[in-house]
Amino acid sequence: MSPKLKTYRIAQIFEKVNSLDERKRCLLCGKVVCNVRNHYYVHFPGKYACSLCTAVYTRSDTLLMHCRSKHPELNGLLVVYYVQ
Ligand SMILES: [Zn+2]
Ligand SMILES: [Zn+2]
Repeated sequence: MSPKLKTYRIAQIFEKVNSLDERKRCLLCGKVVCNVRNHYYVHFPGKYACSLCTAVYTRSDTLLMHCRSKHPELNGLLVVYYVQ
């Protein structure tokens, strides 16, 4: 059994730089970023597995593109499950 990973919600690891700036500072690495969701994946690359084949991607939108091109019979229906 693998040890349980400690995970953070996006709101927990980003703080506002200042009230005039829309950017957020990452509390884990100190980097100031515009897109917190993209940066979140840098630290916590999730695994999104296709349920029809063995493909695994770190991003849900990449898996969605995979499903659309490889499994057109799904008609764009997302068959994703998240692997912790
Ligand atoms: Zn960071
Ligand atoms: Zn697939």
